Amino acid sequence: MLATMARVYDAEWYVLGEELTLFEQEYSTFNQVAHTIGVGNGLEALTLALRALDIGPGDEVLVPSNTYIATWLAVSHTGAAPVPVEPDPATSNLDPSRLEAAITPRTRAVLPVHLYGQPCRMTEIMALARRYYLAVVEDNAQAQGATFEGQLTGSFGITSGTSFYPTKNLGALGDAGAIITNDTALALRLRQLRNYGSDQKNHHQLLGYNSRLDELQAAILRVKLRYLPAWMAQRRQLAAWYNHYLADLPGLRLPVIAPGAEPVWHLYVVHCSQRDALQHHLAANSINTLVHYPVPPHQQPAYATLGLAAGALPIAEALAATCLSLPLWPGMQEDNIATIAACIRCFFGKVSPRN
Ligand SMILES: *Cc1c(COP(=O)(O)O)cnc(C)c1O
Repeated sequence: MLATMARVYDAEWYVLGEELTLFEQEYSTFNQVAHTIGVGNGLEALTLALRALDIGPGDEVLVPSNTYIATWLAVSHTGAAPVPVEPDPATSNLDPSRLEAAITPRTRAVLPVHLYGQPCRMTEIMALARRYYLAVVEDNAQAQGATFEGQLTGSFGITSGTSFYPTKNLGALGDAGAIITNDTALALRLRQLRNYGSDQKNHHQLLGYNSRLDELQAAILRVKLRYLPAWMAQRRQLAAWYNHYLADLPGLRLPVIAPGAEPVWHLYVVHCSQRDALQHHLAANSINTLVHYPVPPHQQPAYATLGLAAGALPIAEALAATCLSLPLWPGMQEDNIATIAACIRCFFGKVSPRN
């Protein structure tokens, strides 16, 4: 990795160069799509994707009520309104049967989020979007490499955005993101939007941004992309061990996967009504867990203007109050998982591990 970084340093070309071009080709191959556009981060990937589709003031975009706030912010930054739709409480992902009721004459797009690396039910979402002439822009920040009915997430909609934030399944050594699409005209607009509206020096076609994936991050991502399939396999094995060691534990709900979905386990999220107590118990035993996410976007001060009081989106609020992300990263071993599971069983007063 240091040799790669030295190569970029010595090349003395740091923005929009050969490393980015090669990473974009390699990431397109990984995703089985025609075009990748490297950008500054995941939020800007989604914002630019919506902007490229001319989504803006007066438009509405359907978003999950329980996502990370970046999904909503991308919509807000175009001037459009994020319209929250409650998820399926079992999978935490967009519920296609609830989407239709949220569609109005102003609705332009749906922004499904493959939360925790679990694919949404894309076949139904795509059928509904076609029926109402809505664009589908996927938030694939947590799910690179996941599939639904054999097709990679991020490749269903007209375009999708992803993040290479360091903790994501494919992480840079800093901020980075990308947009993928099979639409050549859209890809050109996106290349312009990320670079001051220009794809040719001193010719500015659009009111663009400065959002470019730099050479150093592109070179690092090229190295790490080669390991991604092996890391995905490790994440799947770790999740299978959690499923095994935590099975049949009353009081703890394990992840529920939609039929046809093959997740990549960005996170392994369990649900428990005594979440805070369980988290403290684990912390007291030196097991650090996180909550994704403790406060849904509509309850953040940034979205106070929407006027959505507590109780307005009860599924998102209940999921936020009960979710707990257990440790999961490539390199963990079966005995790490068994130890964590034993500690959780101890919390519920069931000391004997299942075997
Ligand atoms: C990380 C993340 C983003 C934003 O990505 P950044 O690179 O941090 O801007 C957007 N959506 C989801 C679901 C994410 O997990």
